[in-house]
Amino acid sequence: MMIGLPRRRTRTSMALAATALTASLVLTACGGSSSAKGTDGKLNVVASFYPMEFLAQQIGKDHVSVTDLTAPGVEPHDLELTAKQVASVQKADAIIYLKGLQPTVDQAVDQSSGKARIDATAASPLVDHHLDEGAEQGGQQAKGPAGDPHIWLDPARYAAIAKSVGDGFAKADPSHAEDYKKNTDELLTRLTTLDQDFKNGLKDVKTKTFVTSHAAFGYLADHYGLTQVAINGVDPESEPTPARLAEVQKAAKDNGVTTIFFETLVSPKLADTVAKDLGLKTAVLDPLEGVKDPSKDDYLTVMKQNLANLQAALGAPATTPAATS
Ligand SMILES: [Zn+2]
Repeated sequence: MMIGLPRRRTRTSMALAATALTASLVLTACGGSSSAKGTDGKLNVVASFYPMEFLAQQIGKDHVSVTDLTAPGVEPHDLELTAKQVASVQKADAIIYLKGLQPTVDQAVDQSSGKARIDATAASPLVDHHLDEGAEQGGQQAKGPAGDPHIWLDPARYAAIAKSVGDGFAKADPSHAEDYKKNTDELLTRLTTLDQDFKNGLKDVKTKTFVTSHAAFGYLADHYGLTQVAINGVDPESEPTPARLAEVQKAAKDNGVTTIFFETLVSPKLADTVAKDLGLKTAVLDPLEGVKDPSKDDYLTVMKQNLANLQAALGAPATTPAATS
């Protein structure tokens, strides 16, 4: 081990503190420090995948250094952790994860002791949307008893998770509790606006039914009074049975569906095939399980694009009458 003592920044300048944290600044805690902080004086946070990472950064800002276990552009459902990543979970001052989404992460968290563990499902319990039926017919095992994990795609549920992250950071790092509270409140304001945009934008649509390849949008559908018809189950890479495909085709015809949605991290081949058979369009509905270019997109911009794509597919009025009756 090279790093023994915590290194202190003796010349911390205000300008440095104001600079956004970049990946290159993330220092790994490799010493035997037993204090609540990492070697760089920041709260050392491990996030399991993008939506958790976004919360950590928005709420922690320059008081935290965040490591994401799922690399940008990687599909998180079946993530395998390296030994180094397991160690990073064990050394973290705080871990933010979503129990039931990534079994290897759950395992690593179970094996870590005495650190701040923020489980998103404690703030927003999972619901069983019965989305694995298609996959089960295809001979695959259900993903466990936890229910549909995609809670972050409902902005109201995501806001509840944000609150729990703010509370968790304040407990793990009380000297910055006020900042965490302020940052959380700012994010909650933006999520409330997003929620209102979805409500207004989806209010006068021609059809309430949308077809998607990956069953990630059950919570979003519930929250805005829509119906999700998923070609696949919760696992985005499972293969639907012919019977399931026939059901999807019938639902699409019966409900005036114009568009088959596919997602960004998985091949659009299946959605293309279904759309072609029915003479429909395809478009992206992004489940935000990863963001390919985090310098360009974030949770809020991708969700706004999702809203625009849903409005187009569901036949919303050309100009959205925001906030008018
Ligand atoms: Zn998913």
